[in-house]
Amino acid sequence: MNRRQFFRSAAVGAAVARFPNVLGAKAAKYDLIVKGGRVIDPSRKLDAVRDVAIADGRIAAIAANITADAETIDAHGKLVVPGLIDIHTHAARMKDWPAMCLADGVTGLIDAGSQGADHIADPIANAKSAPQPCRVLINIGRAGILPDGDTMDINRADVAAAREAIGRNRDMIAGVKARLSRDVAGPNDFEVLKRAQEVASSFQLPVMIHMGQTMSPLSKLFPLLKSGDVVTHMFAPPPNSIVDDDGHILPEVMAARKRGVRFDLGNGRSGHLRWDMADSILKAGFLPDTFSTDWTPEGRTSGVIDFPNVMSKFLMLGMPLDHVIACATINASHAFPVFHDRGTLKVGAPADVAVLELREGSFEFADNFGNNRTGRQRLFPSATVLGGKRVASRG
Ligand SMILES: [Zn+2]
Repeated sequence: MNRRQFFRSAAVGAAVARFPNVLGAKAAKYDLIVKGGRVIDPSRKLDAVRDVAIADGRIAAIAANITADAETIDAHGKLVVPGLIDIHTHAARMKDWPAMCLADGVTGLIDAGSQGADHIADPIANAKSAPQPCRVLINIGRAGILPDGDTMDINRADVAAAREAIGRNRDMIAGVKARLSRDVAGPNDFEVLKRAQEVASSFQLPVMIHMGQTMSPLSKLFPLLKSGDVVTHMFAPPPNSIVDDDGHILPEVMAARKRGVRFDLGNGRSGHLRWDMADSILKAGFLPDTFSTDWTPEGRTSGVIDFPNVMSKFLMLGMPLDHVIACATINASHAFPVFHDRGTLKVGAPADVAVLELREGSFEFADNFGNNRTGRQRLFPSATVLGGKRVASRG
């Protein structure tokens, strides 16, 4: 050992004495280890059997055979993926609904436009008390979702009221929702979207549009979308779907994707997802950026069931497993700043983890039009870790 090597090793020795954890896994102290699962983390292109060690609420190490004196979750035979992020739900309508999604593996939530300026305080209060990070999109219709159409009366698309509401709640309002279907906005769709952009642009926020069965063609509406905006219900059937009768994606849709507009599933229960549309859109090579459930408690018993079930529909439709997981994790994390450090299992990230079971068998999946298809695989929620703590499973 020469002089320089001696000093270097002496320095390391001193550091080890003061900070024993720098020696690595053997000396490390962990709070929780998820053991023996197939870890799939598309953010790092990882797909391998690994242990995931967690300390102080963060991912501390991912390696084979981590041993330490810590609480463990046995994940043998299961998938271990980043906590799921659902960017289109209505979970903040009630105080205890976000917790229901948490048990499904959903560790990040957006309430997408349940309320407008007049009652935005209600979902914001529920989002604040949610166990997982939860933000809301403000409906451009100031009275929120209405059975006879949020903005059928165009005066409800009140720019000043929405701006004022966002100004008071910058930390909790993550964007503006514009529902554009015929039965929601009638002939006002274009004007509603224009006003939503007016509001959003004052705060550099994204707009999420609810497409499908609009009165205006998408060739008129889509040029109003900017980078970072989200199109939900991308598999909605005509009138005005994203694909033409010959199976070609509309040029305005291709252009929107190219400039950074995101395309989202928005499963929901009526009008949004039809299998033949999914077939032709996926066949055209136009894959979703993100999945979302459009969650409500009613969806738990029909159509949606839970987020892992919604993801499983795309396994049936032929999407590879790692892509399916990316749509519910890392891709979704890019859509809203609150999730930017999530959707990944990289060391140092908040320790949000979903343990899922991929079962083989015969499983029925529903679209929104009464058509069932049978798939051979389905993902089931098994355990959820939020901020390094195991949460109660669904009872
Ligand atoms: Zn919705």
